[in-house]
Amino acid sequence: MSDTRVPALDIALVGDSASGAPAAAASAAARTNIFDFDRATLERFFEVELGEKTFRAHQVMKWIHHRHVTEFADMTDLGKALRAKLEARAEVRAPQVLLDKESADGTRKWLIGMDPRNAIETVYIPDKGRGTLCVSSQVGCALNCTFCSTATQGFNRNLSTAEIIGQVWVAARALGNVPHQQRRLTNVVMMGMGEPLANFDNVVRAMSIMRDDLGYGLANKRVTLSTAGMVPMIDRLAAESDVSLAVSLHAPFDELRSELVPLNRKYPIAELMDACVRYATRKKGESVTFEYTLMRGVNDQPEHARALVKLMRDFDRRVQMKDAAKVNLIPFNPFPGTRFERPGDEAIRAFQKQLNNAGMIAPVRRTRGDDIDAACGQLKGQVMDRTRRQAEFRKSLQGQGGVPDAA
Ligand code: SAH
Repeated sequence: MSDTRVPALDIALVGDSASGAPAAAASAAARTNIFDFDRATLERFFEVELGEKTFRAHQVMKWIHHRHVTEFADMTDLGKALRAKLEARAEVRAPQVLLDKESADGTRKWLIGMDPRNAIETVYIPDKGRGTLCVSSQVGCALNCTFCSTATQGFNRNLSTAEIIGQVWVAARALGNVPHQQRRLTNVVMMGMGEPLANFDNVVRAMSIMRDDLGYGLANKRVTLSTAGMVPMIDRLAAESDVSLAVSLHAPFDELRSELVPLNRKYPIAELMDACVRYATRKKGESVTFEYTLMRGVNDQPEHARALVKLMRDFDRRVQMKDAAKVNLIPFNPFPGTRFERPGDEAIRAFQKQLNNAGMIAPVRRTRGDDIDAACGQLKGQVMDRTRRQAEFRKSLQGQGGVPDAA
């Protein structure tokens, strides 16, 4: 599996740039990467740094995100002088596609190189009338959820805004997506590798480009951020952005949840649910999705379903809206070395039925792309030099929410 990717990483990084531009790494490093800007920051860059009008920034955004053009020379509605100025100061540096794999079910996965040592995975899941892109926010993950394959890779670093929106750009270009015209990308879920709320600023800025008409033109509710439950950051998200929230719950009891999601020791279920209520009530008619990965004999018993129903009903009552809590059941996707198993179809149906009988909507997420290791929890990428970085990252998080040590 992953060992076959190591040579691919090395070979592909020798100058094969997804932008089609020569990989002039040394000089490129000094120039500002336009991919790091959302509309507000790019306008500022144009006004303050370049002394240009803001509508020029808008033209550039359209070239990049609508037409997938990365050479200033090809941006024909910009004057020659401006193009030269941009050439000198900036660049449009897309991440490098190392592998592009398509599953038998139409799911597509890209392995994208972020630097010579690290790569992440991005997954496109087409379905009737919609196309969902699953985007990564970090190289690896520091949260150590015991049932997630990304956790086994350790943590290396946060992705920049450019590296996050670059994943959307790579997919949009490969799929021939044109916002509002040829919509291949209709939804983005921040459910790839990493904990998006642990990389707050970069993720929020990238999500602003996803929702901008000059970017990918997605409606707020079609951009979903999924978190393992970083409570203070959920409140910050409510204050600073406007996207759909998904929470990886996986267990209705603290003891069990702490085993599966060690972050629960810091932010137990009651505190997490309080934060979700605050998030949902900031706006009328807002729901929160609770992801529940079903693991055989672990969290798939009638007592779990009963407690889950109670938790969700309580949420609906506090938000004062029926179906404010949406449960998404995810059959566990196995990966090498895991001690967990997927329950049988019958057990999955029985669990779902118990929720349905209590009047709850609880779709079972169909497993997609598992033949190319693209299903939930199967994303690994290439994470190098992870142990030292992980310790540093944990330290840096202390004081701003922090993460507890692994189980
Ligand atoms: N860190 C964020 C974003 C990752 S989302 C979060 O935890 O929400 C990835 C989703 O897939 C999460 O709900 C995660 O719990 C789930 N998942 C992880 N490993 C899985 C596995 N092996 N099988 C099925 N779902 C899994």
